[in-house]
Amino acid sequence: MQLSASLLILAMSTALAGSIKVTSLVFPTETSTSYVEVTPLKDLALSAFTLCMRVATELQGKREVILFAYRTQTIDELNVWRELDGRLSFYLAGEGVIFRTPELGPMETHLCVTWDSQSGASAIFVDGRKSLTKIYKKNHRIRSGGKIILGQDPDHFVGKFEPKQSFVGEMYDINMWDSVLSQSEIQDLLSRKQVQLGNVIDWNSANIRSHGQVQLVSLEV
Ligand code: CA
Ligand code: CA
Repeated sequence: MQLSASLLILAMSTALAGSIKVTSLVFPTETSTSYVEVTPLKDLALSAFTLCMRVATELQGKREVILFAYRTQTIDELNVWRELDGRLSFYLAGEGVIFRTPELGPMETHLCVTWDSQSGASAIFVDGRKSLTKIYKKNHRIRSGGKIILGQDPDHFVGKFEPKQSFVGEMYDINMWDSVLSQSEIQDLLSRKQVQLGNVIDWNSANIRSHGQVQLVSLEV
């Protein structure tokens, strides 16, 4: 009896030692003022990327929801959206590419977007499952000099936010790489087997500045 109790404690402390703390962003209400600015580890002069996050939202119905924005002085260089009809999309300086995927909802979804300039191959991963590949913006290059904004879609350099496009819900584990990760690497990220974090945004050490009503919550995961 005593032995099984101590084994149990050992097992529990191992589990605790294996858990990590991550900062989660909670956007409680629809605003034009709540947002988070993320300073990347390197310039977003990119010819390929993988962008991942864990996200949950109770927003329903016909409403655009911004999931990630990177804007330079002149243009939205990279925006990720939930569209009016619930499809997921991303836009590189102009026309976007839209995917039919399982919809985001109130329970946490692990979402990744991948794009490679050389082939134009782009895809969306929802909880480790890959969409079909679409060919989009072959030979395009994402330009440096912009700002990464979470929670709002800037239509000026940092500003002109519209409440009806704002993000309401929770997001964290926002990591970005300057390359396309494989499907098995994305599945390892989903299950937290992957320790290598983003080389453009590393959420565990990311420099973030929150504005408005965004709450930073420490989660044990
Ligand atoms: Ca807008
Ligand atoms: Ca915009």
